Amino acid sequence: EDDFPTAVDVLTDKVLDGLLSSDFDKSSCLSRYQSVAYRKESAHKPSSHLISRLRSYEALHRRCGPYTQSYNKTVEKLISGQHTEISECNYVVWISFSGLGNRILTLASAFLYALLTNRVLLVDRGVDMADLFCEPFPKVSWLLPSDFPIANHFNNFDQKSPHSYGNMLKRNPVTQLSTLQFSYLHLVHDYDDQDKLFFCDQDQTSIQKVPWLIMKSDNYFIPSLFLIPSFEQELNNLFPEKETVFHFLGRYLFHPTNPVWGLISRYYQAYLAKADEKIGLQIRVFDTGTGPFQYVLDQILACSLKEKLLPEINQNEDVGSFPLNQKTKAVLMTSLNAGYFERVRDIYWEFPTVTGEVIGVYQPSHEEYQQTEKHVHNRKAWAEMYLLSLTDKLVTSSWSTFGYVAQGLGGLKPWILYKPENQTAPDPPCRRAMSMEPCFHAPPFYDCKRKTGVDTGALVPHVRHCEDMSWGLKLV
Ligand code: GDP
Repeated sequence: EDDFPTAVDVLTDKVLDGLLSSDFDKSSCLSRYQSVAYRKESAHKPSSHLISRLRSYEALHRRCGPYTQSYNKTVEKLISGQHTEISECNYVVWISFSGLGNRILTLASAFLYALLTNRVLLVDRGVDMADLFCEPFPKVSWLLPSDFPIANHFNNFDQKSPHSYGNMLKRNPVTQLSTLQFSYLHLVHDYDDQDKLFFCDQDQTSIQKVPWLIMKSDNYFIPSLFLIPSFEQELNNLFPEKETVFHFLGRYLFHPTNPVWGLISRYYQAYLAKADEKIGLQIRVFDTGTGPFQYVLDQILACSLKEKLLPEINQNEDVGSFPLNQKTKAVLMTSLNAGYFERVRDIYWEFPTVTGEVIGVYQPSHEEYQQTEKHVHNRKAWAEMYLLSLTDKLVTSSWSTFGYVAQGLGGLKPWILYKPENQTAPDPPCRRAMSMEPCFHAPPFYDCKRKTGVDTGALVPHVRHCEDMSWGLKLV
């Protein structure tokens, strides 16, 4: 079988239904063109409005990107503090922060915010952003130049920063933002009521006047953008199907660099490509103590069997004959720990399945603990999220952004393993997700007009509370 077309074959097609620009150097990022050969065609089509807004964003990025005349000018103004005429070029700078799954979700959120507010997104490269992701926009980099004036302050920006939007409001509620060259937006889970006013229309009107917004977040905050009235119409036009927001933004923005693509494509071809069906099991355990835990293994098996993702085994020792034309299933497991994988693999080695199916169980790595600052570690984490997104059916763990990235890129509605309480496997063990969208873990609960608390998960039908976190919000 020769299922893997070369980059050239694929190029004759419009790239992902026109989602991607065709204006790229092909060899610098093989995944951008080769990934279509590894994925089933998406069941969803990007709206023509999204496609045209992406092309006009790319043009804006080209006019305003790093070291363009306009960029140099607004940087000068930032240094001098002078506020002169309004420039065409305004920016959102995304600060590299938190685990890789979180970073992918916040970067998608920052990009959509930039799109909605006609800003240019620039990416703080952190330790390894350039090592993990190809440039998503043609001809001009999305990486913030390392000589950007306030880049060395990024690590110090936090909830208490005097430059944060929330703290400026506290000091002076009628702050004249129009005199500011930059403002720091603190959208991290520990943010307070003032920081959260970012999600109010009135505040958006004043924030809009600031040329440089510096943003730090560890949350997928897009669901709350859908509750801001002035963004509503545009978001409707961009995404007539609400649950495809991260699916399309993710496929547009995040292309593994060639070394990461090597990890993905070699693994896929060696272990997954030939199977009749591919099942992903993403295991992320937030409990303290070293696993593997028996209750987690019980839960994984209970969910997989109950939902018929994996077949039952036949414990009767004398089954001798095997049905012909056996179907094969490849199970791709990801976890920091090898224990769950070893047990599942052994079960399907030691016993035959009642259906006669042959089950292969694979896990690319077991890194034992989170190592956010290490290159090879994050390459593997990215490769594994991507490999999970190439499966046909996916089981994910509650609360994990690692799993959210896989489900969104894959266009998969996962079965979510409920979070275990008191070291026991929950019953039922899992449920099917309402949509493939990620969950916003720390949303505001505020009615900006009435200035009172409100249940933001009950305002419109397409923004609901999440399956895995009762106070979270997700698009459905
Ligand atoms: P979250 O904590 O599950 O929301 O996901 P994040 O990706 O934000 O942070 C977890 C980090 O731990 C990842 O970025 C990896 O560095 C590491 N990690 C967690 N689970 C796995 C896994 O299954 N495989 C690998 N390779 N790394 C993992």
